[in-house]
Amino acid sequence: MRKIFLFMGIQGSGKGTQANRLADRYSLAHVSTGDLFRAVMKEQSPLGNELREIVNAGQLVPDDLTSRMVRDRIDDPDTQQGVIFDGYPRTVPQAEALDAMLGERGEAISRVVFFDLPREKAVERLEPRRVCSVNNAHIYHLVNNPPKQEGFCDIDGAALIQRADDTPEAITKRVDAYLQETLPLVDAYESRGLVAKLDATGDISTVTRQLEDMVEGNV
Ligand code: AMP
Repeated sequence: MRKIFLFMGIQGSGKGTQANRLADRYSLAHVSTGDLFRAVMKEQSPLGNELREIVNAGQLVPDDLTSRMVRDRIDDPDTQQGVIFDGYPRTVPQAEALDAMLGERGEAISRVVFFDLPREKAVERLEPRRVCSVNNAHIYHLVNNPPKQEGFCDIDGAALIQRADDTPEAITKRVDAYLQETLPLVDAYESRGLVAKLDATGDISTVTRQLEDMVEGNV
């Protein structure tokens, strides 16, 4: 049975960076709803325009649309070994939709990894964040994880940019939405015995090692 991991945690807690590393290492699919939306936002289409308005303002995309994007993604060939969900689910209806999707397939969540980071630290990490303009899953931090050549992605050489929703205003909205809507989901998963809590204040390699132990079933 394929492994289903949920990476949950406040913005800037390292979910995307770590999901990328783990997905490569264990041939898991990295399913980030934020990345799925950003891909559509590059299109000049009605949906692209609508998403751009919602996402750049730091608001949540409607649940139905979000879960439909996930439903369209989770049977892709690269998901055969397993999936790391990054940034999904974020609300109660999304969590219910995910349980239903997995139930239909005779599957269940293997583990919910909770990246624990205080709000102040999270906000500090977001402003200096830069992403690759071609592939937003390539994530850097000007101080903690700088690119080898300033301003350019190590992986494909493309220019680095700041995400449009990493502005102080949008950051506040996103963090508030996380605390109100998403954090309570962690408690619900906890009561199902699914949560592994991770100290997300550690440096990137330390956190990766902890995650590797977890995926390999050592903890
Ligand atoms: P992220 O890359 O996970 O920080 O997501 C960036 C933005 O995409 C969020 O601030 C939301 O506007 C939108 N988004 C991503 N995932 C979800 C989700 N599961 N539900 C609603 N909106 C989402």
